[in-house]
Amino acid sequence: MLPSKICFETNEKPFRSKSVSILLTMTKLGIPKELNDRRVGMVPAVATKLLKSGVSISIENNAGVEAGFDDASYPEEVTAESRANILSNSDIIITVHPIPKSEWGSINPKAILISLFQPYADQAISGELKEKGFTAFSLDMIPRTTIAQSMDVLSSMAAIAGYKAVLKAAELLPRYFPMMITAAGSVKPSKVLVLGAGVAGLQAIATAKRLGAMVEAFDVRKAAKEEVQSLGAKFIEIEGAKDDVGAGGYAVAQSEDFIKRQQAEVQSRASKSDVIITTAQVRGRKAPTLLPADTVRKMKPGSVIIDLASSTGGNCELSKDGELVLVNGVQILGNSNLAADMPQDASLLFSNNVNNFVQLMIKEGELNIDFTNEILKSSCITNEAEG
Ligand code: NAD
Repeated sequence: MLPSKICFETNEKPFRSKSVSILLTMTKLGIPKELNDRRVGMVPAVATKLLKSGVSISIENNAGVEAGFDDASYPEEVTAESRANILSNSDIIITVHPIPKSEWGSINPKAILISLFQPYADQAISGELKEKGFTAFSLDMIPRTTIAQSMDVLSSMAAIAGYKAVLKAAELLPRYFPMMITAAGSVKPSKVLVLGAGVAGLQAIATAKRLGAMVEAFDVRKAAKEEVQSLGAKFIEIEGAKDDVGAGGYAVAQSEDFIKRQQAEVQSRASKSDVIITTAQVRGRKAPTLLPADTVRKMKPGSVIIDLASSTGGNCELSKDGELVLVNGVQILGNSNLAADMPQDASLLFSNNVNNFVQLMIKEGELNIDFTNEILKSSCITNEAEG
């Protein structure tokens, strides 16, 4: 049973105001540098907002440099410290990617860890964190409800990924996206097929439309049809998709028969498409295969596939996570971390989401976690107070 409310001891730290020094009990937030990512967990503008809740903030030296934020750009109350200090002295540690297990021994054992732990993909993680006595909140477990929208890191990052997917495709494609009528001749617009019209897919549709492509899309959720059409794209109808409104907005796994019919429909469209962007995911499962190898072989040479689901098995049978592969002249980019390619705005949006989330657990500068709060309850994957 989770306790309904727990309070944690916090560090004492002198608060430097311009004229006097007052000793206050403050919750210390630590932001380590991401190890293999250019994003940072807290940007200067959001640190300024967060400081107003009475917390103190420390960043690891140069934590934000690769996102465009050097240490001097943070408010003067934010201290830049060594990684060892941040890990061992913080009450709350915020990262985009979880701190590697090899460093867990250096973390304050009472720290609260906030990160994208992805417990659906890494089912051992909660148990391992619990064994170490940490309290951990996984941002990907925040419910997709209206009230939690301002904390929805998955949506912020997926929207960037959808946008970037189209830009990557446009760069790789040996053709224009828009129709062009020039003195040297006319060029037809490119055809873009988007598979999976959730947050990333809808942003991909909007971006491809802005670039002037002809766009069609498919999703198994019925609600997606109207959203696709409202962006001016064509929705592909395939009868018989399973759609469960009780799945928290997420898609559910489809029957083998449906997947076969879907693959056949996709194949007939893929051969005419210049770009295919795939974003289809089913929470806690391998991504559905929507583009089998024989479909890719029927595509025109020069076409581009961007597979945003590559880290969970891929929607394209031939994609390799983190790689660009060439099959019969078709370029296939597997990348589920495209938000990291736009580190400045990705860090800004991530920080805003985290600020809104952290506000739920801070009262007058002190940690005050109410586990009856639906958002905190859903995202807490291990709680030291549980024993
Ligand atoms: P996701 O990343 O889990 O999946 C991407 C898309 O793939 C989804 O739209 C899904 O329906 C689709 N998909 C799965 N299997 C498919 C298949 N076989 N063929 C075609 N498409 C398939 O989804 P997401 O973008 O994270 O969004 C999940 C849900 O949460 C959506 O319903 C979205 O509207 C909702 N949402 C709600 C809020 C909110 O209310 N605060 C915020 C964000 C997202």
